[in-house]
This record gives sequence, C-alpha cells and structure tokens, in this order.
Amino acid sequence: MSLKINSLLIHGGTDGDVTTGAVNVPIYQTSTFKQDGLGEDRGWEYSRTGNPTRAALEKLIADLEQGQYGLAFASGLAAINTVLSLFKTGDKLIVSDNIYGGTFRILDNVFKNFDITYEIVNTTDLGAVEKALEDSVKAVYIESPANPLLSVTDIEAVAKVAHKHDKLVIVDNTFLTPYLQRPLTLGADIVIHSGTKYLGGHSDVVSGLVAVNDKKIADRLYYLQNAIGGILGPWDSYLMIRGIKTLGVRMDRHVANAGKIAEWLEKSGYASKVYYPGLKSDPGYEVQKKQADGAGAMISFVLKEKYDYRKFYKNLKLITLAESLGGVESLVCHPATMTHAAIPADIRKKVGIVDELIRFSVGIEDADDLIADLTQAIENSAR
Ligand SMILES: *Cc1c(COP(=O)(O)O)cnc(C)c1O
Repeated sequence: MSLKINSLLIHGGTDGDVTTGAVNVPIYQTSTFKQDGLGEDRGWEYSRTGNPTRAALEKLIADLEQGQYGLAFASGLAAINTVLSLFKTGDKLIVSDNIYGGTFRILDNVFKNFDITYEIVNTTDLGAVEKALEDSVKAVYIESPANPLLSVTDIEAVAKVAHKHDKLVIVDNTFLTPYLQRPLTLGADIVIHSGTKYLGGHSDVVSGLVAVNDKKIADRLYYLQNAIGGILGPWDSYLMIRGIKTLGVRMDRHVANAGKIAEWLEKSGYASKVYYPGLKSDPGYEVQKKQADGAGAMISFVLKEKYDYRKFYKNLKLITLAESLGGVESLVCHPATMTHAAIPADIRKKVGIVDELIRFSVGIEDADDLIADLTQAIENSAR
C-alpha cells in the first residue's frame, strides 16, 4: 500500500517490533551481536556496521524522501563528511553561495587539504551553474532555501543541467524536511539532513541523515559509513524516530506561524529587508511554490538603521538567542558571529550576510505572542 507522507511519518520505516508486537521500535543498546557459529550471524554483527534501531530510522528517512536507501549519522556534519568522502584528490564541487557555515568550514579547511576543492556559485542562476561545470567538477552541492538568506535554487533545473554534464547533485534539505520538499523526486542524487533541526524537532538530539536512490552510491556510502564510523547511536536513533512521528503537525504550525510573522514584519515598517520565500515579494517565491509544499519556517531580516540590533537580541523575552533551528521553541541567531562565523568576512559581505542580519527560526508557540515579543524587543531597541 502506498502511503501519503502523514501516514509514513507514523508507519514508515520499520513499524514497531515484529518479535514482541511493541508499537515502538526497541532501543537495541548493544555494541555487538552473538553469532551462532562461524559465518552464522543473524543479520547483525557489530553496531558500527549496523544496529536494528538505527536501521529502522535509516529505512524511515528513505521512505520519507521517496528514496531506496537511508543512512543515519552522529551529526549533520558527520553525514556531510561521509558524503564528501565519495570524492577524491583533484575533484571539485560547485557549492551554493550561501550555505551552512559548518559545510563551508569542512570544505575549506578539511577537504581542501586533500585537494578536493570547491567553487562558490550563485546556484539560483542556472547559467552560472552551467558555466562552472568544468571537467574536474564532480558534483553540485545545493541548499534550498539556503542558510541564512533563504535563496531558492531550482533543484529540478540544476539537476537537468548537472546530469547533462554527468555531475552528481547533492541537496541539503534540512530547512524544509521531506514533509515540504523531496529533492530525490526533483532529480537530486543525494539528500542530506541535519536531523538535529526539524526532523528531531525538540532541540534534544544531534544527528544527520542521508537518503539516495542509486544502489552504487548507496553501497559506497554504507562502506564509508562503516569505514569512517560517524554513526548515530541506538538511543539517539530512537529519539529521532519519536521526533519524526509529529513532523507533520509541527511543520504545519511552523509554516503557518512563519507566514504570519513574515507578512507582519514586511508591513510593520521595522525591517529594511525581509527574506522569506513564502512572501510574494521574495525573488524565490515562484520556484519555491513549484518545488515545495510550503516555504518553511526560517525568516531572516535586517532591522532599519534606527534600531540597534544588539539591543534587540538582549530585549527578547520569549524568543531565545541560540544557535540551531527547527525546534518547537523559537530561536534567533546572529549569523555573522554565530552560525556563519567560519565564513571569511569578505565572502560574507559579498553574499549579503551583513552584520545586521537576524535569523529567526519560528517555533510553534502562539504567533501573536511571538509578534508581541518581537514588537517590544524592536521598540525598546530604538537608538
Ligand atoms: C545545522 C546544519 C547542518 C549541520 O548539522 P549538525 O547536526 O549541526 O552537524 C548542516 N546543514 C544545515 C542547513 C544546518 O542547518
């Protein structure tokens, strides 16, 4: 039976426990498994290689992304590290011009040391992507909407161009989750998540997930997952499965709140710039509508000059100043010194990550309370 996403969130992956009938997947808190004789294991050997709780989560993310294979890692960056390990010395990647700071850091300060290089390209510009696809390029790495400026890349169009030149397409789908966007169905080869964010959803677990369709890529990734060892433990795998069950109801509220707050911000006269692909005025609006089932719940904005953004952060009472995003509680961060500090100042400025930029992860509290908190924090920050 082919299930819609709201049913898959509850019943996808491994549904419960076949041995006992427990409705939840048990936490197999074990490092190793008894073998009945030489070469006679029962499908499990050692928990780095495979663990039934992790396997249930891995099947779940594959189902949700409409892929064939899933993998779970200790963090989003452990997932990214493993995916980047598909490449070898001399290979080059094309990367969206605003990406998660940690992704930039691992490219610039880890993989570059092995001569796996990158070029930053505005992937919302299809012509620029095609122009950059020289021989040494092996993949295009996209975030859409991208962190922190929420620029939208047409995944299907980039996949067409990239595949014409035999390049892989990797999409970091953290900001939307498979509830709102399924990049594999748009032509992407590899989907990556920081499960720490919306998928986990409660700011209580750090994890990373990958989904793919191609068996050859999947086999190599499973090999690398075991060889590198950055796997997610059974307890955290269980927490992820638990969080994912409510993804649909959470995302509906996240998106409704974000839409309301983005429109309010735009009309309020407080902001000189509001970035949110759900706003009709946003340059990414049409592509976002075409390729996703909602605009997500990340908003970035710049306050007008007459407000002191440093005071604004201090004045907030309900909304918390913290790194991370995608939890039930609303969080704000300052990309220039927090999430994107690893990106050199000149590159930050060039792509628009100005010091005044505020990133807002809209939670599932009452939208009116959030607007009231923003209002008092902004009003009290007037210079
Ligand atoms: C947080 C984040 C990551 C890194 O994930 P961790 O779980 O923190 O390692 C990667 N990409 C995006 C878009 C993120 O927001």
